[in-house]
Amino acid sequence: MARFAFSVLATDGKARTGRIAMNRGEIRTPAFMPVGTAATVKAMKPETVRATGADIILGNTYHLMLRPGAERVARLGGLHRFMNWDRPILTDSGGYQVMSLSELRKLTEEGVSFRSHIDGSKHMLIPERSMEIQRLLGSDIVMAFDECPRADRPLAEIAASMELSMRWAKRSRDAFDSGGEHAERAALFGIQQGALDERLRARSAESLKEIGFDGYAIGGLAVGEGQEAMFATLDFAPEQLPEDAPRYLMGVGKPDDLVGAVERGVDMFDCVLPTRSGRNGQAFTWNGPLNMRNARHAEDTEPLDTRCSCSVCGTYSRAYLHHLIKSGEMLGAMLLTEHNLSFYQQLMSGMRNAIVKGHFALFASDFRRDYFSRS
Ligand SMILES: [Zn+2]
Repeated sequence: MARFAFSVLATDGKARTGRIAMNRGEIRTPAFMPVGTAATVKAMKPETVRATGADIILGNTYHLMLRPGAERVARLGGLHRFMNWDRPILTDSGGYQVMSLSELRKLTEEGVSFRSHIDGSKHMLIPERSMEIQRLLGSDIVMAFDECPRADRPLAEIAASMELSMRWAKRSRDAFDSGGEHAERAALFGIQQGALDERLRARSAESLKEIGFDGYAIGGLAVGEGQEAMFATLDFAPEQLPEDAPRYLMGVGKPDDLVGAVERGVDMFDCVLPTRSGRNGQAFTWNGPLNMRNARHAEDTEPLDTRCSCSVCGTYSRAYLHHLIKSGEMLGAMLLTEHNLSFYQQLMSGMRNAIVKGHFALFASDFRRDYFSRS
């Protein structure tokens, strides 16, 4: 098998479908990666995650470095063995979560010092340490260490932050490349920044291309700017990145975000939404999201979604799921998470098939008609 080989099998407009060949398995694109924050996709066994159709999952550097610790995971044989997932794992760099979760952050040219949100202990995350942690975890796709400013900051601040992220991208590349055996079997992705600004995004893309990466992420979106502004940015950002490498939109999103982003040329996604929503009693369906706490489901013998092929929809009624969620039963969270992840994978699969057939525009308009129909 190849270390990392991306091939585009078909395109339809800007949308494209393909595959990434890696040592631990193939990733079909457009791909949705369930988030396994703390070495677990919450409420799911790894074999069930795989059964939903996931080719790859995401692990969080920030959480794992604090608990149980990257060195401990390495001593236990790496993240794959630790959590019993033998397919590819992408790890984020920790940069985003240091900014969103930790306390008393201090940002310098060197990196970020911060206190753990768990126990207040002091830590420092710099590009070199982020690469080391991701290597200790045994990550298959490593993300460069970056800084993600809020999109509503002044442009000069966003520009300075982007330039810092590009210097960190180069340091990440160098540190990753000196990682010995791991560098020979894993891949490294750079992250484009520049918020909503086309010129800053273009400059960021040029810097990343000059360094050279296996794949390119679009960072700094889905941070509260709204779907319209995100789509407006995606009207130019993916095309600024190399055509022959996967483009990964980080932290996105809702089903309609995924369809709109694939339409604009994005190949990979991750988001906590299907898992977090599942634990909160929300189910995604082809006819839009359902709040399973709602009393209208109390005696409804239908499945969550008659078009869904998952085992939850094949077995359990809305009435039963409503009861589990209302009662705070663990099984409710487990079953809704399983359905939501299955639904997301069926959506990705539907998009991949539509692109192959050259019917993506029809797929997208049918999807929007049904999803926003409020049945
Ligand atoms: Zn289902």
